[in-house]
Amino acid sequence: MPVESRRLWSRIEYLARFGPSSGGGITRLAYSDEEKGATRAVEGWMRAAGLQVRYDAAGNLFGRLKGRRSGPAVLTGSHLDSVPNGGNFDGVAGVLTALEAVESLAEEGRLPDSPLEVVSFQGEEGSRFPVGLLGSSFLAGTFPGEPAALKDRAGTTLPDALRAYGLTGADPRTALAGPGEYAYFLEVHIEQSLLLESRGIPCGVVTGIAGLVQYRAVIEGRAEHAGACPMDLRRDALAGAAEMVLAAERAAVDSDPATRATVGLVRTFPGAANVIPGRVEMTFDIRDLDESRRDRCASRIREEFRALLARRRLSGAMEQVNISAPTRCDEGVMRAIEEAAAAAGIPTVRLPSGAVHDGANVARLCPIGMIFLRSRDGLSHNPAEYTSPEDLEAGALLLRGALERLGGLA
Ligand SMILES: [Zn+2]
Repeated sequence: MPVESRRLWSRIEYLARFGPSSGGGITRLAYSDEEKGATRAVEGWMRAAGLQVRYDAAGNLFGRLKGRRSGPAVLTGSHLDSVPNGGNFDGVAGVLTALEAVESLAEEGRLPDSPLEVVSFQGEEGSRFPVGLLGSSFLAGTFPGEPAALKDRAGTTLPDALRAYGLTGADPRTALAGPGEYAYFLEVHIEQSLLLESRGIPCGVVTGIAGLVQYRAVIEGRAEHAGACPMDLRRDALAGAAEMVLAAERAAVDSDPATRATVGLVRTFPGAANVIPGRVEMTFDIRDLDESRRDRCASRIREEFRALLARRRLSGAMEQVNISAPTRCDEGVMRAIEEAAAAAGIPTVRLPSGAVHDGANVARLCPIGMIFLRSRDGLSHNPAEYTSPEDLEAGALLLRGALERLGGLA
């Protein structure tokens, strides 16, 4: 086999040492000592593989295999940080399959036309600082605002966290990639859903990353005595919110299998067993790979919200707090992955990503592609997250084949 499955799996097991949490999972927050330990281990493997290693001002780690020509590099990798009590595969699978693919090519002494560069992005998860995709946002120049304004829950600013991580204190925005620095970006990631498992297929070729729109809504009714106020005279904000939860679900179901709508947060005030809720705060998260279909779903939810307020004699407002455009994966990259799969005899299927990934940022720099790996029970952000050694090997093989094609080795 052109990739070493056992080496790949032993590295997965080794990185599980960094940040084990009491719940059986992994807690490896951005720029923490645990994250640093895992990153240093990968750095050591990169050096041993003969890659040129560097960190940028945002703490992203790069390991480069030089090419015959010094033009734009093919970048591949993922992240090593995790959510609190997360699993051993989210992010890690993408960094280690990238290393395995590039290392195995280096071992064969085959020099690609283009440089191949393995990356471990910092702070993908947004679990320490309230912003995700941090490292790639600095590389791609999409970080909004001032780094010093970003604080974690303990009040540590991002520049202080960077210094504590051992970086020089340079502004992380100087990590911005130069024009033409990258030709392509490829990321292997666990699927985090059930489609591949349900179809018995090990790998997916991602067509794009869904764009999201998020709203924060407030519903105002009237807080009254739960015993004294008759049912027909109530203005119950929570009963209205409950209708909206179901309306959002229905709007997504009626839209398309690729549309998602979620109410993830509902706060009830005053929040007492014997008081009719007078106020509710809630969130709506709507996503789709197709932007206009997402917007149609979102506008139906907003219309139902207005109609519901009138019908139930409530007042309130819905405010947009976040929006991002969908990212299309490059057709040429998808074809390179599929050709590699056909050559290796590995079945694949095309599928969209509902979750956001670093590629959404890197797409500002170059065409991107992603390979999804089958996740047992569809689980992620969970200690029970699991992708088998065989599926990891399949992912490394597809990635290697795609790198050969895009990097001028095939
Ligand atoms: Zn991830």
